Amino acid sequence: MRDVKDVNPKNIWNALKEGNKRYQEFAMLHQNLDAGRREELVAGQKPMAAVLACSDSRAPVEHIFDQGAGDIFVIRTAGEVLDMGTFASLEFAVDGLGVQNLIIMGHESCGAVKATKAALEGGEVPPGFQRVLIEKVAPSILNAKRKGLDTTDDFEIEHVRETVDMILDRCPVIKQRLDEGALGVVGARYRLGTGAVESIVEFGV
Ligand SMILES: [Zn+2]
Repeated sequence: MRDVKDVNPKNIWNALKEGNKRYQEFAMLHQNLDAGRREELVAGQKPMAAVLACSDSRAPVEHIFDQGAGDIFVIRTAGEVLDMGTFASLEFAVDGLGVQNLIIMGHESCGAVKATKAALEGGEVPPGFQRVLIEKVAPSILNAKRKGLDTTDDFEIEHVRETVDMILDRCPVIKQRLDEGALGVVGARYRLGTGAVESIVEFGV
């Protein structure tokens, strides 16, 4: 992330938005992927942002923000669901690495959201550990329905909102950094067709 002069949560988020604009316009700079950067990172990492995103192969996080090696601490699970490993990774990013920006990114046409919608409406639950995804996404969809929302788009957006709320509710260290002005937290949704990252909720940026 070379284009952040005065490093703070707002400027980091702006740099990521600029990177996403370049990605949308096929004008990526592919910075921080050279030999010098690789050498520089052997000694350690100091990423400015962390992103929790869905594992979907159509939503490649570093590319979407036009960032290189050492720029973003990325955590991905199907449906960007939270478990102990995810919470631990988020806290490590904020407390251990000192990232100043945390982005929770869902996306258009998410299979985990679709499968949960199908399970809630048709009673079909996938086998094995996949059911965990249904259990984790279901509260978001039920909350959305209670608000009168009914489309898959609405459910994907609500799931991001719920996930942001849960992180702020359950991770005191993250909430504290946000309250101190040392961390920005953004919930967003990636659009497959345009490549745009659309903001849903923003705190501290
Ligand atoms: Zn997904």
